[in-house]
Amino acid sequence: MRAGFINSTGAPDILQVGDLATPEPGPGEVRVRIQFAALNHLDLWIRKGIPGQRLKFPHILGADGAGIVDKVGKGAKSSVGREVVIYPGLSCGACPECRTGLESLCPQYKILGEQVGGTNAEFLVLPEANIFEKPQALSFEDAAALPLVFITAWEMVAVKARVTKGQRVLIHGAGSGVSTAAIQIAKHLGAEVIATSSHEEKLSLAKELGADVLVNTATSDFTTVSKKVDAIIDHVGGVFWERNIRCLKSGGTLVSCGATSGWDAKTDLRHLFFRQLKLLGSTMGSRRDFPEILRLASEKKFHAVIDKVFPLAELSEAHRHLEAGRQFGKVLISFN
Ligand SMILES: [Zn+2]
Repeated sequence: MRAGFINSTGAPDILQVGDLATPEPGPGEVRVRIQFAALNHLDLWIRKGIPGQRLKFPHILGADGAGIVDKVGKGAKSSVGREVVIYPGLSCGACPECRTGLESLCPQYKILGEQVGGTNAEFLVLPEANIFEKPQALSFEDAAALPLVFITAWEMVAVKARVTKGQRVLIHGAGSGVSTAAIQIAKHLGAEVIATSSHEEKLSLAKELGADVLVNTATSDFTTVSKKVDAIIDHVGGVFWERNIRCLKSGGTLVSCGATSGWDAKTDLRHLFFRQLKLLGSTMGSRRDFPEILRLASEKKFHAVIDKVFPLAELSEAHRHLEAGRQFGKVLISFN
């Protein structure tokens, strides 16, 4: 099968596209013929090498994808030809966390393309529990672009921050995949959204997605318009942290899924207890919520913003494009 893979870690040039053995589905597994895969920053970090990361080379990157079931293993109930979208998290399915729908806390939790081979290949074998019916209303492109960012954003906005109608929500880094998803989810839940970015074009995109108030952090201080917010959705971390804490109203919730500007932040604990703040961490989200996300996407309540589609042969170019940070939304890989 044709696949995009790495044999070492480093710059985009190390990405190779070539033939690898086509995998066979085992018991309870299905093989999906990938139609489109989507890139995430996770792919860039793995390609560059995360400390402590142990990859088995050749390693196929990619968490997101959608395709067609092409072969089923023993005991799997899917029919060949079923159009599916992939939930990118693998877990044991048996531990207390998995049994209560908190599988991203499973001790054996893995993300496709990180600890195991991913979607940047013509064929991918995975447990049947990881495939979901692709709604007819979604193209393969739209479906492939959704999973990782919408699952992450849904967990932060709807599950952890429990955003409800009329609340004020501050969402940083408006141009990122997770933030473009978070803006749409918060608007769907009836919130007022304040979006920040240091790029004017990304703020325009945030406005198109429904953001009510825009703050260019390169030229103004977000705290002036973000007083007493109910929730903050953040992956910027460090440089915003102390100001974030000041912006939260008493009893408010900050959900963090990253620290792109630095992780060594200082917290004045008096704010934490006197104002009863909730500071929550978040990584990925539950498979349990994925059907709801797909349903809302199929009803056009929200959509993944697609920036550009590259053929598999140009995988290095696609990585360079994402790394340059000029994209608006998802970068996709086509297998057609
Ligand atoms: Zn588990």
